[in-house]
Amino acid sequence: MDKILEITIETLIDRYEVLLLDAFGVLVHSSGTLAGAAELITELNRSAKPYYILTNDASRLPATAAKRFQRMGLAIETDRIITSGSLLKGYFAQNRLIGSPCVVLGPEDSIRYVELAGGLVVTPDDKFEVVVIGDESGFPFLDTVDSVLSGLIRKLDHGEKVHLVLPNPDLIYPKSDWEFGITGGGIALILEAALHQRYPGQTNLHFDRLGKPHDTIFKEALRRSGTRNMVMIGDQLATDIRGARAFGLDSVLIASGITNMHTITVDDNHLLPTYAMQSIIL
Ligand SMILES: [Mg+2]
Repeated sequence: MDKILEITIETLIDRYEVLLLDAFGVLVHSSGTLAGAAELITELNRSAKPYYILTNDASRLPATAAKRFQRMGLAIETDRIITSGSLLKGYFAQNRLIGSPCVVLGPEDSIRYVELAGGLVVTPDDKFEVVVIGDESGFPFLDTVDSVLSGLIRKLDHGEKVHLVLPNPDLIYPKSDWEFGITGGGIALILEAALHQRYPGQTNLHFDRLGKPHDTIFKEALRRSGTRNMVMIGDQLATDIRGARAFGLDSVLIASGITNMHTITVDDNHLLPTYAMQSIIL
């Protein structure tokens, strides 16, 4: 990736009013913090530099995420965390889904997000109108995916309508420095492919994707920060970089996450980061 300008975290702090930091692959993976994360957050807090965590995670409420960050030594306050899960509230209001029976895949906080959005959480064996894939954790994978698929086919065979919602469109995430995992976005792809086989030609059977790269999460960051002078630091071209570019923000692709900087070639301008950065180490 030799054509993209390299930058450092110090220069970003000087050049932009607000930093938008992705969580997984930038500050943390699922086993702990990445090198430099604790020092960076300490310095941002000390110098009162405005920053927000912009994460596609829908498995933890912002308060739960803040507690987890704090346990890891990252003193990040709840109101700095903007999650894809919190976008469900607006989605439910806009699509008039308040009070609708919802099947939710994910742990306790994914269920809580749907309840806070006004959904009525039920099982795949009940009558449901909405499927929300909040996360890949918190349930037996194959049994649950099979019962959601069966429930969907029962409904669709009867000509009933269903809303499919995916707060987190990511496909993979970093579990440790050398391990990767499949996310809820992968489950959505499986279900979409299965429905496509059963109902060929029905183009509406897809999940509405809410988080990055879509603009709602960036609009929320703008609402909170009050300035467009923000830079997005992330590890994924398809979400962090594409989303920032489409919203008119500069972006930084970081080498510490899921994108292999040695093998990528960016021939799609929408995916081109403004800068590349090796790490967040000060
Ligand atoms: Mg990430």
